[in-house]
Amino acid sequence: NIKNQFVIFGNPVEHSKSPQMQNAGLKHINFDGNYKKHHLVDGNTIKDVFLQNNYMGANITVPHKEDAFANADEVRGLAKEIKAVNTYINENGKVIAYNTDAPGFLKAIESFEKVKNVLLLGAGGTSKAIALALKSKDIKVTVLNRSEEKLDFFKQHQIPCFFWENFKPETYDLVVNSTSAGLKDEYLPAPKEMLEPILKTAKFAFDCVYGKITPFLALAKENNCKIKDGEDMLLFQGLLAFELFTNTKANISLIKAMRKGLKAE
Ligand code: NDP
Repeated sequence: NIKNQFVIFGNPVEHSKSPQMQNAGLKHINFDGNYKKHHLVDGNTIKDVFLQNNYMGANITVPHKEDAFANADEVRGLAKEIKAVNTYINENGKVIAYNTDAPGFLKAIESFEKVKNVLLLGAGGTSKAIALALKSKDIKVTVLNRSEEKLDFFKQHQIPCFFWENFKPETYDLVVNSTSAGLKDEYLPAPKEMLEPILKTAKFAFDCVYGKITPFLALAKENNCKIKDGEDMLLFQGLLAFELFTNTKANISLIKAMRKGLKAE
């Protein structure tokens, strides 16, 4: 008899650390609620499944973020431009959608000082959120992707974008890897000859992949960049969703509790 049921929709979803992080937060503030995994196959059923199960809130992960956007009753904030959402809230039977990956990323790079010019590797859903988040803060962002197909979105938003064959490098303060290269393999997100000169002159490198030193971060470190993995991004997107779920404002002790939950085995 749990009053407020929250879930993460994904396919696959087994690997997700969100339940342990969110449940740690709920416990910390004594909120009458529980957060679990929901394996969802057909993204187009997401709104009906959400409402039929009486879920109060949800996170949405691969591959359903675009379908979740398209099926929501109302989309708020930067998500309207990103056209992908990772958070649903049940507001009196209406499905309200948000993207907390974008502000979560901005929180995660706050420790990198005076970032003005970013090279963003990859052009998938996460890259779209990060590119528009940076643009909203008037930080210059250039996208570099392996292939040309996914670049239309960035062109529509007047964001300079390249694929490997036509890339004209500049000098960047920060290089972000938003590709899935390095997640389960030992690939760099772009050829070493292309990346190394850029990392030599950059100050910071960030990888969205969480919990490991990817080949990209290793190369950045070799070239004297200050590096950071995706843990804080995961934490802050979760924290922002948690605030929406519970209608509370996070403080330091909640952040600590949720980080501990996230890192638990
Ligand atoms: P998508 O599948 O939407 O995009 C994948 C991108 O990676 C594409 O641009 C693709 O290029 C590129 N890519 C894949 N493999 C390679 C490779 N071997 N070499 C070069 N480029 C490659 O993924 P998402 O945007 O949803 O997620 C990207 C990553 O971000 C994942 O690793 C995910 O785990 C992580 N993530 C982390 C979050 C966090 O909170 N820390 C939040 C969300 C995501 P192409 O177009 O050529 O195929």
